[in-house]
Amino acid sequence: MIARGRVQIVLTNFPSKLDIIIVGGGLAGGLIAKRLLDRNVSFLLIESSPSLGGHHTWSYHETDIPPECREWMRAFQSYRWDSHSIQFPKLSRTLETPYCTLLSSDFDSKLAPLLGNHFRPNTRVKDLNRGMVALEDGTVLEAKLVLDARGWTPQGLTAYQKFVGLEVEVEISEDSGASGGSVQWTTPMLMDATVPQLDGFRFMYTLPFSKNRFLIEDTYYSTQPDLNIPEIEKRIWNYAADRGWKIQSVLRKEVGCLPLPLTATFPLSQRSDAAIPVGLRAGLFHATTGYSLPYAVATAELLFKLWPLGLAAVESGLKNRIEDNWNQQSFYRLLNRMLFWAAKPTERYKVLEKFYSLPSPTIERFYAGSSTLFDRARILSGVLMANTIQWCCENNRHEFDFMRGDEDYKYRLGGVNRFVMRARLTR
Ligand SMILES: Cc1cc2nc3c(=O)[nH]c(=O)nc-3n(C[C@H](O)[C@H](O)[C@H](O)COP(=O)(O)OP(=O)(O)OC[C@H]3O[C@@H](n4cnc5c(N)ncnc54)[C@H](O)[C@@H]3O)c2cc1C
Repeated sequence: MIARGRVQIVLTNFPSKLDIIIVGGGLAGGLIAKRLLDRNVSFLLIESSPSLGGHHTWSYHETDIPPECREWMRAFQSYRWDSHSIQFPKLSRTLETPYCTLLSSDFDSKLAPLLGNHFRPNTRVKDLNRGMVALEDGTVLEAKLVLDARGWTPQGLTAYQKFVGLEVEVEISEDSGASGGSVQWTTPMLMDATVPQLDGFRFMYTLPFSKNRFLIEDTYYSTQPDLNIPEIEKRIWNYAADRGWKIQSVLRKEVGCLPLPLTATFPLSQRSDAAIPVGLRAGLFHATTGYSLPYAVATAELLFKLWPLGLAAVESGLKNRIEDNWNQQSFYRLLNRMLFWAAKPTERYKVLEKFYSLPSPTIERFYAGSSTLFDRARILSGVLMANTIQWCCENNRHEFDFMRGDEDYKYRLGGVNRFVMRARLTR
């Protein structure tokens, strides 16, 4: 018997060998569990904490989600806006791409009752492999397939997207302040980079949950993971005051430090008895934004579709997805190397400013992690090359071998060190 709040969950009605055990009831594990409910699968979701999903505000552009998943994802949506805005020193723009948010508290309160005794909270897993899970209390569980959804594990050199957010209740003064703009009160402001640039690329992110309740996040694209939380909270208060928003109360604080890989090791183990990773653990996230929600949705959908085809199809389908994503993300890792290694920290914002002047479909495909070859050429040549060349000139470098990455999978596939593409500058 397990106590979960006031509900007593009895774990005796499972077959001795389950079809699937998912270890980790975060975003990826929870969404897979949701989709397995829609199939006749005997499964268990094991989570070390008392609830599903931790403490996050997960947001995404609606176009990040495959169209066939939007319907079932709608049940979890906490907020949806028809458009969103960005603001840079030389560019303000509203994009007509809908933006959505899912609060992890809603995720837990909606999903946990549906899962019932498929969900086992307050249970830490000590060890796991392809067909076995050992709990810390000594219990051993068996399954035909074990999925490892335990979240991020370091996988190479990274930079960071880090932030402190305050969900606040505000009183809005008649005079909306020097930098205020009524558009911010109803439309999410995804990037307001008109603030002083500190610790790399800095921007404010504001989600208007209602007329007087906002989530205001102060975000940094930095090579360092540390955050001076009290100092950043002060900056949020100042930002609000500048806009004529008088903070009445702070309802919630959220802190995050998302890895943005510059290089990364291949996430699939060579061992044939290893559990299959999913979520962040499998590298299933966008390397330049650190966001994983669209990837978690697509993985859950893949499992739902493959289940009727049998276990072998599920395993190979998941492994192929991880490998395909790995290859797809190499472009975004390259962007990270150029952004963090070849753009001055205080001028990183200019790269994003140029990026946001591109056509909406290119921006949408970028966030969805599905940039076409043409998009890639456009982002590289129009947005990043100028900064790279400028950096080379200022640092007296005549060559910048921007295509080189030292991810270990390249060596595993027989790669040897040679420059495949390089920029040579002559004065
Ligand atoms: C504050 C914050 C905000 C974010 N906002 C966004 C966003 O807006 N949009 C977006 O797409 N992404 C966002 N991300 C990034 C990413 O999507 C999230 O980190 C997401 O939660 C990752 O999902 P996951 O399931 O892979 O890992 P997690 O959600 O971290 O889940 C892993 C789970 O495994 C459990 N676990 C770990 N070890 C064990 C064990 N031994 N036994 C049992 N359970 C275990 C953990 O308790 C945890 O619940 C955000 C991240 C943070 C930190």
